[in-house]
Formats: sequence, C-alpha cells, structure tokens
Amino acid sequence: MKRGAVPNVLGGPLPIRPHSQSASVSISLPQQLACGDVEGKFDVLFNRVRAIQKKSGNFDLLLCVGDFFGSTSSTEWEEYKTGVKKAPIQTYVLGANDQEAVKYFPDVDGCELTENITYLGRKGVFTGASGLQIAYLSGTESLAEPAPPYSFTSKDVCSLKATLQSTSHFKGVDILLTSPWPKGVGNFGNASGDVDTKKSGSSLISHLALDLKPRYHFAALEKTHYERLPYRNHIVLQETAQHVTRFIALANVGNPEKRKYLYAFSILPLNLMDVAELVKQPPDVTENPYRKSGKEALSGRQGLALQEEPACQFFFDLSKKQGKKRQSTGGDKGVSPKQPRKPPQPLGPCWFCLASPEVEKHLVVSIGTHCYLALAKGGLCDDHVLILPIGHYQSVVDLSKEVVEEVEKYKCAVRQLFKSKGKRCVLFERNYKSHHLQLQVVPIPLGCCTTDDIKEAFIVQAQEQQIELLEIPEHSDIQQIAQPGAPYFYVELDTGEKLFHRIKKNFPLHFGREVLASEAILNIPDMSDWRQCPRSREEEEALARLFRKHFEPFDFAEED
Ligand SMILES: [Zn+2]
Repeated sequence: MKRGAVPNVLGGPLPIRPHSQSASVSISLPQQLACGDVEGKFDVLFNRVRAIQKKSGNFDLLLCVGDFFGSTSSTEWEEYKTGVKKAPIQTYVLGANDQEAVKYFPDVDGCELTENITYLGRKGVFTGASGLQIAYLSGTESLAEPAPPYSFTSKDVCSLKATLQSTSHFKGVDILLTSPWPKGVGNFGNASGDVDTKKSGSSLISHLALDLKPRYHFAALEKTHYERLPYRNHIVLQETAQHVTRFIALANVGNPEKRKYLYAFSILPLNLMDVAELVKQPPDVTENPYRKSGKEALSGRQGLALQEEPACQFFFDLSKKQGKKRQSTGGDKGVSPKQPRKPPQPLGPCWFCLASPEVEKHLVVSIGTHCYLALAKGGLCDDHVLILPIGHYQSVVDLSKEVVEEVEKYKCAVRQLFKSKGKRCVLFERNYKSHHLQLQVVPIPLGCCTTDDIKEAFIVQAQEQQIELLEIPEHSDIQQIAQPGAPYFYVELDTGEKLFHRIKKNFPLHFGREVLASEAILNIPDMSDWRQCPRSREEEEALARLFRKHFEPFDFAEED
C-alpha cells in the first residue's frame, strides 16, 4: 500500500508519521494499529479494523492496551474462542487489570487466546516480523508484595529494564505498551483534558518509559484520548541527541463521545534507521516529563516546575509606541517568524510573556526579536532593568540558540550604557519558584565599591545563610552547569565571573536583591524587598521614558 494512505481514524489529524524521509530506503514501512480498552466489544473493534483494511490495505498487527475484556464479554468472546468468528488481523493484547478478568488468561506468562489473538504476557519484549521492537508490561501498579495476578511491581519493572539495557548499545525501543498512564506524563506538555496526570497514573511506568525511551508509548484505562507533544530523551547540551517519545493514550472502543480509540502509525524500526534521521527533533518537542517528577513522584514530592509562583514582581504594558519596528515582524504575538522553535506556552496567566494580557506595558523599554528589556517594578535603583525572553521560557537553560544570542546582545548593550554612566553591571537570575526567565540587571556606581567587594559580599552573605556558591570561570556557560528543570541561582559580575548555587530547597527569594541592597554595596537595606519600593504609575512612566532615551544609542533593536 501507499505510504501515507492510512485513513484518518475517528477524526483528528492524519496520525501516520513516516519517520524516515530517506528515499534510499526501499523497505516498505510496517503499518500498525494501536487500540485502547476493547472492554469486550470485539465485533465493534474488528468491524472497524476490517473497514480500515478494506480502504487502506493490510496492517501488520493490532496492539491492544488497557482492558481487552469487559464485564459483558462472555458471549461475544465465546464466538471468537470457538472459531465462529475470527480476528481479521494478528492482535496482541495486554493482561488483566482486575481480578475479574484474570480468568480469561490461562497462562500468566503469555499464550494464544484464540486464532489471531495473543496475550503477550506479564512483561517482556518481542520483535515483530517487521523488526519493530515492542516492550510491554501488563496490569496495574501494585506496591504490595506478592502482587495480585493482575498487577506489576517495581521488581517487574526492574527486570524488564535489565533485560533491555543489558544489550550493548541500547538506544531505546520502538514501542512501549502499558495499560495505565505514566504518572506526570502531562508535565511540560499540552493539556491532558480531564486526567490529572500529577495524581493519576503509575510512577513505575514513568520510570520505565524514562529508561526504555520508546518512540511510541501507548496506554489506556482513562477512557479518553490524549496525544502528548513529543518529548526529548536527552538533556540538551549535556547529552548527545536522541530520538523523541510520543505518548498516546487511547479511549475505549465504541465510546459514545466518539473519542479516538484506534491509532494507525507507521515507523521504520529504530535499528534500521539512519541516526541523524532518528534523532531529528520535531519543532514542538518538549522537555522530558519524567526526568524530575518521575523520581520525586515516588518520594511523594511534586516537581518544582509545577509550583505556584508567588506574587509576581513586575508588570508590563505594551500600549505605548516603543518597539514599533520589531512589532511588524511578529513581536506583538510574542513569536517571531525567525524563531524556528515555538516557545512553550504558559499554563496560566504570565506577567512576563510579552503577549500576555497580564503585562503592564508601560515599563517595557526595548523590544528585540526574541527578547525584551523592561524596568524592574520596585527596582533597587531607577535604572534596574530586566532582560526577558518574549516567549514563555522558564530559565536560560531552556532557551534556544537565537534567544541566548539576543540575551547576550542585550547584556552587552546594557553594560555599555552603564559603563558610559560610570556604573558596573551586576546580573542575577533565580530559577526557583519562577516560571518565566527574568535576568535582573542592577547597575552599581563605580565609586560605591569594587567588583571584588561585590563578589565578597555575595560569598559572605551566602555563607551566613548556608548557601553554597560555586565560582564559575569567565566564559563558561550556565547552560552547561545547570540541568534543565533543576532550580538554581547565579550572579554574574562585570568581569564575567559567575557565582552559581544549585538550589536544593528553601532558597530565600530576595537573596540577590538583599546582597546588593546591603551595607556592603548599595547600602539601602530597606529596599531589599521590591514590595517595599512602590512607585506611582506616573513615576514609572517617567523612569521608563528616561531609560529609553539613555539606552537609545546602545539599543541594537532600534537600528535597522
Ligand atoms: Zn511567560
């Protein structure tokens, strides 16, 4: 059959995604179907499969996750079991998820249930005729040992991981089949509808998916359809690029809401693929949902990335005329056409996304292509500014190359401005309880103190609060030191030296300000909390006007 001719099953975008575009590949791509909970509606399912096959040719196999049997399946099943009816395609199913269904699976380690329908077993890996490697885990998670016959435990997960990872050069599997969703799969991803992925699902499956790196992961049991944005399996800038994972949850067969329960897809086995092709990152790729939450879910803690931001510090307004030139290139939507990667969208209101209605726009002083500059609300001094990405990025670690480059351009421009005013520039960033990157830039008059004084003030005050600051040499990169998603604080001195702290817990939110406001530096300790520094709207507008005027000669965004 023709590639791409797979029908659009139950609406939505065409699900087929041939991952290899290389014309030299002469092997026809194997076609698979995946299905959610069948719940004993065998006729509905197989009639649908027949219709699809009639239209689009044969598929290699049908993979069923979730409950294959239902409470009313007995009579219908009898017809398949006795050969009166027959599945039109080689069908593989997972095992029982409750005591009632156990009776349908005569051999817990896998067996043919009837012609063309095979129970895979409790856990394992099999390689289909097409060469696709398919890992599977039956049942629901159990914390008790011994587990009931319809459950898996951490031992099962460990042994499954060990089986696969013992093979040399293990890169991942093509497909992972589980019945429950992995816990936390919605982290960093698109909305998962009614399902709260922080609360429901199995954390053992999250661990399994993290280690097995499936290209496709199918699950069910939640009676809904959810296709998560693909997520990456490597840590950016720390590990070599790997393929992405697509998590797809399918609804139950014949559900009245017409939610999608069948998914057609077509991939070349991982082992046959060209590496460059395999590791290509789609434009909508997200962070790995399990890298942090998977571990912390087990200890009952939530990922830091999900914590609420405390009262937001700064507000912006865009109603004024600044940034007029760049807005025509898409700046007003916060997404520039030059930006190859769409920034992640905030989960709620954000005070820093330039396109956000929450933004108080009168404080914005310059708008570039990827970043903008704004006066700090309640700033330590009149020219305390922030460098912010236009799109919603949490920290410098998440930024793409173009955005990083423009952050550097802004840093450079601001440094030059302050130098011309006889001030040195101190920058700091706190990636902790903060959802949108804010790089704080505070000018310190040269006569006030030396760079060494500033450095010492940070080190001494950090020691007093048991904060471990690491010195990072000039020219080294925060992106290489911090891990995506892991909270940190750093300060950058005007010499380019940086002091870095990996936040483990309870970091004082105003630490950077406190040090700069202390007697050792600016000597305005009353101003260490921005909320103590209210300014009227008129004052803020006047300060922003003044800053724009002074910054203009240095503002690359205003050239053209
Ligand atoms: Zn934002």
